[in-house]
Amino acid sequence: MKIYGKKRALEALTNFRRSGRMPHALLLYGARGIGRHTLADYTAMLYMCERHGNTPCMECNECRRTERHIHPDVLYPLQQISDTGKYNVDGLRQFIMDCYIKPNDGDIRVCVFEKLDEMLPQHQNTLLKFIEEPLDFNRYIFIAEKKAPILQTVLSRVTALEVDGADGNEFAEALAEKGIPADRAAVLYERFAGNIGAAVSYTESGEELSYVTAAMKAADAIAARRETECLTALLALKNREDLFETIGILSDIFAAAAGKRGGRPVTGAYRAQSEKIAKALSLKTVTRLYDESVRLYGKSTANPNVRLFAGECCGAFFSAVYG
Ligand SMILES: [Zn+2]
Repeated sequence: MKIYGKKRALEALTNFRRSGRMPHALLLYGARGIGRHTLADYTAMLYMCERHGNTPCMECNECRRTERHIHPDVLYPLQQISDTGKYNVDGLRQFIMDCYIKPNDGDIRVCVFEKLDEMLPQHQNTLLKFIEEPLDFNRYIFIAEKKAPILQTVLSRVTALEVDGADGNEFAEALAEKGIPADRAAVLYERFAGNIGAAVSYTESGEELSYVTAAMKAADAIAARRETECLTALLALKNREDLFETIGILSDIFAAAAGKRGGRPVTGAYRAQSEKIAKALSLKTVTRLYDESVRLYGKSTANPNVRLFAGECCGAFFSAVYG
């Protein structure tokens, strides 16, 4: 298992182990494609590894079964309780009840909850009791894109680690493994920053992901103050997941643009869009846009009508632009 990027999170994990203060509940959050699931596997190995080191040995039986997702005590509740990729209260309750029984094989059970930020508030509340009174043998790893939709009561009980992308060299190395040449990798790095997964899926599908296109068009439209174009870009999205993905990317673009206005260079993905926005709009406006994007993204656990919500987003962004 080769891990690219994620330096800060890896360092934090090693330090937790070294100091004997490994948390019972961890939240790994970051963009889709950045490697959150790989880091979750790594973290699960760290909990399970027979050798109890500060990093998992990746060789012992526990590590290997964990990596291959065949360890009977490393559980993926979302896959277990749902065929649709969505949580439900009954499934969650049943899963939680099963976790009050001791693990099958060893002393530790790891529960990997994917898409925490897509859990409805009532699901998060069901979960809350479970993580509030942790049993000695249970460990929890949560995966999310953003923290905004997660209840404060849940956040206060987990240790959150942001998952960073790879640097330029690692990015090129990872893409070379996929047969992508260095000059192409350099172009992709400009575009996706250190997000290897996004760059690879873009290359393999041969086309832009719809939510990426929508985010870039919407950002261009906001910079140019063209509301209809922004709305058209958002209405092109077919489902709520993609719409929220787009809002998430816009949020990153506004954050980078605000940084740029505050004198920091833009280094992340979507540099062209961030710079356009920074050039066209004041820091106050960009900050308002950012706040609106966070607020709108926070609604991702609701189930809005996609077209209506696209209209609401566009309206909110342009209210922010015209102050
Ligand atoms: Zn091991």
